[in-house]
Amino acid sequence: MSETYDVVVIGAGPAGYPAAIRAGQNKLKVACVDEWQNSDGTYAFGGTCLNAGCIPSKALLESSELYQRAKEEFSVHGIKLGDIKLDLAAMQKRRASIVKTMTVGIAALFKANGVVGIQGHGRLLPGNKVLVTGADGVEKTLEAKHVILASGSTPIRLDAMPHDGKFIVDSWNALEFDGVPARLGVIGAGVIGLELGIVWRRLGSEVTVLEAVPELLPMADQAIAKEAQRHFKKQGLEIKLGAKVVRAAAVGTAVEVIYTDAQGEHKLDVDKLVVAVGRRPYTQNLLADGTGVLLDQHGFIQVDEHCRTPAANVWAVGDVVRGPMLAHKGKEEGVMVADLIAGRYGEVNYKTIPSVIYTQPEIAWVGQTEEQVKASGRAYKTGFFPFAASGRARAMEAAQGLAKIVSAVDDDEILGVHVIGPMAGELIGEAVLAMEYSASTEDIQRTIHAHPTLSEAIHEAALAVDRKSIDAINR
Ligand code: FAD
Ligand code: AMP
Repeated sequence: MSETYDVVVIGAGPAGYPAAIRAGQNKLKVACVDEWQNSDGTYAFGGTCLNAGCIPSKALLESSELYQRAKEEFSVHGIKLGDIKLDLAAMQKRRASIVKTMTVGIAALFKANGVVGIQGHGRLLPGNKVLVTGADGVEKTLEAKHVILASGSTPIRLDAMPHDGKFIVDSWNALEFDGVPARLGVIGAGVIGLELGIVWRRLGSEVTVLEAVPELLPMADQAIAKEAQRHFKKQGLEIKLGAKVVRAAAVGTAVEVIYTDAQGEHKLDVDKLVVAVGRRPYTQNLLADGTGVLLDQHGFIQVDEHCRTPAANVWAVGDVVRGPMLAHKGKEEGVMVADLIAGRYGEVNYKTIPSVIYTQPEIAWVGQTEEQVKASGRAYKTGFFPFAASGRARAMEAAQGLAKIVSAVDDDEILGVHVIGPMAGELIGEAVLAMEYSASTEDIQRTIHAHPTLSEAIHEAALAVDRKSIDAINR
């Protein structure tokens, strides 16, 4: 049996499903094939992000933060509670129900936008055909004018620390623990390792994060990274930098972790070990011979700046192609491709992709770090604003961290904005918009920010660039 479409998308994660929806909005006949199955065997749209990534991690970060605040902060507000107890089963039920609502929502969005959602495996054949193997094993071939590959990524597994899903686990398993491990090891202090480490630390685990690289968050502005390190330490998260895990094995009901650092080899015993050493592009059984689609040396599908593969009318978007592995980056690529296919304008500004780490304080940035600007040789100026000087942050009992702006000396262009503090992920939106519009620092200086809001931190950091800060001492 063969069906014909204008566009077939393989993968319904945050890159694939927006591509399919925009194609539908562009009045193209579109199908989106996805094989994601949850641990109970049910199929669900939404990919890693909705089922095992962004959304469940944020649900647990929120719940665990509230638990910690109830224990440690409420009394400061004059709120006295009795014995505060953790009901992990209820917390996990909430997490699962949020995920379910969001993934079911995608099926509804597909329907509303005329997208045919198909649950099963998709394989690209030469000539822009897609062989679909459904959940029931039945095969059918879809013929498409255009195919968009959005097969995403999967956690990197290392032979020296064999995954068993119970003791040595990946990020997905670590979001679904049904008990709080007394001792939790995390390999990798990347975004995923830190967020998971923080969740379980707040819920009571003794957490040790082992990171091979000698500095924390090397991709972030180092003023922010240093501030983050201080706060994580205060929260009891033990982060060992320059500690490379060489092997780990489950022994009885625990895990023995062997790592090396400048002092030599060490052993760490934990109850569970989360391997969060990064993700790799996922293309298993995706491409038949002769499609013309090429992979690079790291397994990413090769594309140009508009996400075109070398094969005619075959595109690829999201984690399976170069660039940061972020849901919003994939979404913009998916939408761009669906618009280009429809003959409309489409472009992704890779220079203004924000990064957010949902720890407490939250960390967010866009553009270049001070270190990158310095290395580029361009003369620059910086402005800082500490949240300690923010009335709103004080009222929220969240007066920690800082906002920092890096601007060019010659034309005042904003080159990078870096925030560690309350709601940093929300605050960075203003900076992204400013940079998207090529705003200068003066543009932000002259923009009215409501008082008292956290957004004043961005305003004040912009003023501080020219030593005109009103609410903090100019340095
Ligand atoms: P995916 O989300 O991986 O989706 C790909 C889909 O394609 C999957 O459903 C897969 O089953 C399906 N598929 C693959 N091959 C086939 C095939 N042959 N046939 C049919 N279907 C197929 N990013 C953020 O921006 N913010 C965050 O806060 C954030 N938090 C994260 C937390 C965790 C714990 C993790 C693991 C990731 C997080 N990410 C976050 C990263 C984010 O999840 C990814 O960048 C995003 O999901 C990538 O989207 P994608 O559509 O490219 O791929
Ligand atoms: P990310 O790629 O941002 O998800 O982060 C993964 C982190 O894991 C990186 O900071 C790596 O340096 C770190 N990492 C990778 N392998 C090891 C290892 N064997 N031991 C400790 N850290 C590791």
